[in-house]
Amino acid sequence: MIIVLFGAPGVGKGTQAEILAKTLGMFHLSTGDAFRTAIKNQTEIGMVAKSYVDGGHLVPDDVTAKIVEEAMKTHGVSNGCILDGFPRTRIQAEALDAILSGMDMAVTHVVNLTVDYDTITQRLLARGRADDTEQVINNRLQVYENETAPLIEFYKNRGVLRDVHGLGTVEEVSARILSAVQ
Ligand code: AMP
Repeated sequence: MIIVLFGAPGVGKGTQAEILAKTLGMFHLSTGDAFRTAIKNQTEIGMVAKSYVDGGHLVPDDVTAKIVEEAMKTHGVSNGCILDGFPRTRIQAEALDAILSGMDMAVTHVVNLTVDYDTITQRLLARGRADDTEQVINNRLQVYENETAPLIEFYKNRGVLRDVHGLGTVEEVSARILSAVQ
């Protein structure tokens, strides 16, 4: 199974991806975490990514696809993979198809976590990560609307999209996600 956890920033993708990956024994790949690690370690990719991440803008698609391809090839995805924060653009979705088809695999489920924007903004401000200031949050929500939300239609047309209500306790939401992928 290749599961994409999809939704706006602050919707709870990271928390839920971690739980789901543990429950199903799958590899959890978060591009946000990968970029934060690369920035901390000052790798080549980290140097490129820093200004985008700091400003709440998307890291260029080719750089992002490369980090995903390397991680998938290093860890292997034959036991399944939970993608968290990727893809975020149409070009990334197509790059993902190309990477997976090279491994004879395909996206099997896209879980679309839905939470209203007021709740999301409150959650992000409370989280207090470096890119969680009000200005940067607004940029990230705008980027989500313009670049990422159109992928809902893309995956709906393929019949792999599942909407999951993202409000409730962590346990309630993870139970909903689990039943959406089983
Ligand atoms: P996240 O942890 O998913 O909220 O991502 C934090 C930041 O990392 C984003 O605001 C982007 O700057 C960058 N990032 C994460 N995933 C992607 C992606 N798929 N494409 C481009 N940039 C990304």
